[in-house]
Amino acid sequence: MSHSPLKIAVAGSAGRMGKAVIAAAEARSGVLATLAFDRPGPAAAALAGVDVVIDFTVPQASLALVKLCADQGGPALVLGTTGFAPEDESALEAAAAKIPIVRSGNFSLGVNMLLGLVRQAAKALPASDYDIEITEAHHRRKIDAPSGTALMLGAAAASGRGVEVEAVAIRSRDGITGPRPDGGIGFSVLRGGGIVGEHSVVFAAEDEILTLSHSARDRSLFARGAVEAAVWVAMRPPGLYDMQDVLGFSAKA
Ligand code: NAD
Repeated sequence: MSHSPLKIAVAGSAGRMGKAVIAAAEARSGVLATLAFDRPGPAAAALAGVDVVIDFTVPQASLALVKLCADQGGPALVLGTTGFAPEDESALEAAAAKIPIVRSGNFSLGVNMLLGLVRQAAKALPASDYDIEITEAHHRRKIDAPSGTALMLGAAAASGRGVEVEAVAIRSRDGITGPRPDGGIGFSVLRGGGIVGEHSVVFAAEDEILTLSHSARDRSLFARGAVEAAVWVAMRPPGLYDMQDVLGFSAKA
């Protein structure tokens, strides 16, 4: 397989992210978007002609695409879709045994830096004194909550504290909730207008508040990151990678 130029397919090409990915690919030298589709069922033969598929769709569509690519031994995948159910993980892992896949809830450099900072702060600040709350805001058309990025930030905070995020997550509050449990990691969600993506991780103690935050100003940020992930993954062996690997922030890279 020759990667000069790298031939990519864009799944979800009529969506907000799909359009941004096509624009980012056009602007990136050495990359050519040769296939774009926004409905199920691209011909397996058409996919065989590309090196990497970049997917920003919905979980059901992503899972079908992952299976198709894995069954025919390629192309590689960059998965930006969020909102997968916990039971989808085994299908993604099985596919990644056959083809290389980069999956991330956020392709920006800043958020991937933030993940490391959050892990470090959560490790240093005792759970008995510092309550962790993750707040996120997105546009009114977003269909999953909390965002994939908020969940990644929660997992980073939990890993800093040496616990599983599922064991400590507080995903909703309503009515007489009682006091906050020690060590809980709370998530709050705002939806409205055209907000591209705002995330904050708050460490609240009795006498001080530390806030680490990220603000995305334009979704071309994620699209450029996804195109760089495609360039990176094209030459990798099968495996399930994330943006930390692409950026060289993890030992696997
Ligand atoms: P969108 O609704 O604008 O676009 C999704 C597109 O997928 C639609 O055009 C739809 O027609 C298409 N689609 C649906 N089923 C399909 C199928 N079977 N095959 C091909 N196309 C299909 O949504 P969006 O704002 O572009 O977001 C898409 C996904 O990307 C969401 O899960 C969102 O959370 C995620 N996202 C991830 C990042 C990141 O950095 N990882 C950034 C932004 C958005």
